[in-house]
Amino acid sequence: MILAKTEILKVSKNADTAEDIEKLKFASDVIKRGGLCVFPTETVYGLGADSLNEKAVKSIYEAKGRPQNNPLIIHLSDKRDIEKYCETKGVFGLDKLTDLMPAPLTVILRAKDTVPKTTTGGLDTVAFRIPANNIARKLIELSGTPIAAPSANISGKPSPTGVKDVIEDMDSKVDVIIDGGECDIGIESTIITLCETPPVLLRPGKVSFEKLCELLGEVNMSHAVLDSLKPGEKILSPGMAYKHYAPDKPVFLLKGSTEKKINYVNEKNKTEKTAVICYESDRESINCKDTLCAGSENDNEAYAAKLFSLLRKTDKLDVDKVYAFLPKDTHGISLAIYNRLMRAAAFNVINLE
Ligand code: AMP
Ligand code: MG
Repeated sequence: MILAKTEILKVSKNADTAEDIEKLKFASDVIKRGGLCVFPTETVYGLGADSLNEKAVKSIYEAKGRPQNNPLIIHLSDKRDIEKYCETKGVFGLDKLTDLMPAPLTVILRAKDTVPKTTTGGLDTVAFRIPANNIARKLIELSGTPIAAPSANISGKPSPTGVKDVIEDMDSKVDVIIDGGECDIGIESTIITLCETPPVLLRPGKVSFEKLCELLGEVNMSHAVLDSLKPGEKILSPGMAYKHYAPDKPVFLLKGSTEKKINYVNEKNKTEKTAVICYESDRESINCKDTLCAGSENDNEAYAAKLFSLLRKTDKLDVDKVYAFLPKDTHGISLAIYNRLMRAAAFNVINLE
């Protein structure tokens, strides 16, 4: 059920005032009635609906223009709800991962019959997450149902990390948008499947591959994390097969020493209108039309937090091409930055090493 007008409600990050609760009750009524509500999480904004209501779930796919075989993550507010929707008995490593929750971590398990196939994109597995953001958890709790919520962007575009970006993609397509400020992490949750032995990392995020290996012993990394797929190749995470995170302008990734990257973009800017996404310390030496800084080279968490909003910003600039500096390695959150940038750039890497 879509209302004629999208209601925008500002809620404080703690979600603890009487006014906040009133607004969240309003939003949870929308969810209960089968409507759509965009809400903040610590990763990115989510486009939420009741994951047990097939009609409501279908309207998520429609609002995003998302292929119906690309499954949704169900969001819970309480660990005790996991076993209502997932087969949990005897699953190796599950307790170690639930100990981290609430967290920017999504776990895939075998689904119980309680979860509609529309939500799982037809799969017999289901992805669940307990978000750390207070607004998100309170909304789920008040709704009394797991909320299916992909990122609140039009399919293929960078995920929204602030309410202005949400409005751009979702205004008049959803009943409510909850404005909870900027998302802290800025890239989507880590996804791991426990349906394989050893477990497989499907999407990197703030909970790092190294941390998962430390907790679980052995973890494989899906080759789709860093590589492009062969046409028709079948993978564990259907979403990895689609175009993703891409602004309108073509994006090229630069790998190599800082000096070589700077020289390259300055040379290109002589004949092209270029935008560059780089580190703060590189700004002085770059002569491009638009220089967008993602923080310090020693702080890739700041790069992650700003990445999607910078990619979206390039759509509004009068430039022909976007060049982005890749982090020096793929450790910790840098693996997630690599993974998102590779897709945003359709795997166009210029190796200057
Ligand atoms: P988004 O909701 O936009 O953050 O994307 C969620 C990602 O999780 C997509 O890449 C989906 O393909 C993936 N996903 C969700 N459920 C499953 C599942 N049951 N098995 C494998 N991948 C899943
Ligand atoms: Mg998404």
